[in-house]
Amino acid sequence: MAANMPSADSGGNGGNVLRDQRRAVLDGWHSPDHGALVQPVDITPFPNELAIRWSDGREDFLPLETLRRFCPCAGCLGEKDIFGTTYKPPEKPYGPHAFQLKRLGPVGGYAVQPVWGDGHGTGLYTWEWLRRVGDAVSAGSSNP
Ligand SMILES: [Zn+2]
Repeated sequence: MAANMPSADSGGNGGNVLRDQRRAVLDGWHSPDHGALVQPVDITPFPNELAIRWSDGREDFLPLETLRRFCPCAGCLGEKDIFGTTYKPPEKPYGPHAFQLKRLGPVGGYAVQPVWGDGHGTGLYTWEWLRRVGDAVSAGSSNP
């Protein structure tokens, strides 16, 4: 039994495959399900919560305490090693002002950086992260 060797000239097909893949990626980017970038249209800090209105119409009211507990900085959330294992630091007791929002600075149009009453302010909350906090709040969870 002799298998037929493909007689097509190699090289011609490779380019087409690449072009198709690239088109698939672009289609995904533009699709309303996967590619639409949801952004906050309004962020309003209240004494106990942060109200966020999103470009897709959703509204989140994030308790400041929950927001602080979700601080995504390495010191609060833990750092990942190269194997993807997260080493979470031991739970620190929060000071009496830890859940007060002192300042909320915008970061490059993709995140906000809150400064808390106890001086902590290294966490960058991206829009994606804020949506996650919102998901957790509506699911009744107050831990990341
Ligand atoms: Zn932190």
